[in-house]
Amino acid sequence: MTIQLHDTLRGKKVPFEPLKEGEVTMYLCGPTVYNYAHIGNARPAVVFDLLARVLRRRYSLKFARNITDVDDKINAAAIESGKSIDEITARYITAYNEDMAALGVLPPDIEPRATQHIDAMIAMIARLIEGGFAYVADGHVLFDVASHDRYGELSKRDLREMIAGSRVEVAPYKKSAHDFVLWKPSTPELPGWDSPWGRGRPGWHIECSAMAEQHLGNTIDIHAGGQDLVFPHHENECAQSACAHDGAPFARYWLHNGFLSIDQTKMSKSLGNVLLVHDLIESIPGEVIRLALLSAHYRQPLEWSAETIASARRMLDRLYGAVRGISVPDDVRAAAAVPEALVAALEDDLNTPKALAELFALARALNKSNDPAEMEALAAELYAAGDLMGLLTVDPETWFGGDADVSADGGLSAEDIDALIAERSVAKAERDFERADAIREQLTAAGITIQDARDGTTWRRGG
Ligand code: AMP
Ligand code: ZN
Repeated sequence: MTIQLHDTLRGKKVPFEPLKEGEVTMYLCGPTVYNYAHIGNARPAVVFDLLARVLRRRYSLKFARNITDVDDKINAAAIESGKSIDEITARYITAYNEDMAALGVLPPDIEPRATQHIDAMIAMIARLIEGGFAYVADGHVLFDVASHDRYGELSKRDLREMIAGSRVEVAPYKKSAHDFVLWKPSTPELPGWDSPWGRGRPGWHIECSAMAEQHLGNTIDIHAGGQDLVFPHHENECAQSACAHDGAPFARYWLHNGFLSIDQTKMSKSLGNVLLVHDLIESIPGEVIRLALLSAHYRQPLEWSAETIASARRMLDRLYGAVRGISVPDDVRAAAAVPEALVAALEDDLNTPKALAELFALARALNKSNDPAEMEALAAELYAAGDLMGLLTVDPETWFGGDADVSADGGLSAEDIDALIAERSVAKAERDFERADAIREQLTAAGITIQDARDGTTWRRGG
């Protein structure tokens, strides 16, 4: 079976075939670095990290995720905070990479920064002007949407209807309200670069087209991002890249993830309803957040709540519970294959709910087995599947024990907790329920959650 991917341009799921046999190029629009990433921003990073892992099983992959480090929002943040632009961008680039690493996102092969590709942008803009697809007006360079008859194809918009329906105030230098900025002038205090059109800075859309061209070529295999980027960002990238490359398609497959919402409202910086990854990972293991983000199919909406997190935590407890106490020699683990049904689910347009169901089927089989050889083999398979999905990355004892430092103010060490649980088991066996309940209460008060199962009691820190 070939990998199947849903392509926004064709509007359906199609078999995936890279341009060059055995090689795949993929570009994901990355963060604009003026703030911490919220959990909605983490969704594309996590789901397309998983896609990259799945693609690498079959292909040699070149995966670029850019950093937008020149943007008016960054300039505004610098003015507001009194810090330099470099200070702001450096700080949030580091934070982004640390936060994504905590969610098991592997570094992309290339992490191009817009400010290091200004020459490529200027060259592309010059080519667009030369070809009659862009014009200079009042210190700006604008893309002329009327020059490209396929404009609107990605977002399924009809330019004539858009023009008829537009009520926006049009800047006087634009031929059409929908013409977008490729280059704009900078005042002396704003970041700017010399160009044939004066000192200025690039528009957002041209950044991605130029960086993709420089690192991945004129036509890339996969272009990914969140659904909100389809229009205008990707429509504009698609138009300008095709026009700069004699009509060659920019991307062969366009992939978009659905929104993450809270109380049915899209999480977004402008609405202020954001949960920052940076804050969440203080109290929630990164793997729990990763699993929560993968629990819905990437194209479906994902409603985020305390229950989303609790449910992901329960799922991980089940998976870690299944492998707990089974030692798998390194060579057995390294040789284990990921179950075919799980790979098939992921290769079917990244069907993570189905892949997770396969993980649980494996965990159930493992829980039922009494045969040590079979248990070792099943545990090795579960770990192999976990490696592919970025889950089950810590030792089960660490998972259940929590490796958090014991606080100086009377916190319980792992040994204390084990001893109290052992004492509680004895108390229960002796039908001293008062003592057993008192121990549970003592543990709860110390922030320890315990879970009784047939084969014993497990515990973890936190709710
Ligand atoms: P931004 O920094 O706003 O450009 O967003 C970075 C990435 O996060 C883009 O791919 C967006 O489409 C994506 N994104 C932003 N908000 C959400 C959300 N609530 N749910 C899912 N993806 C989102
Ligand atoms: Zn982009």
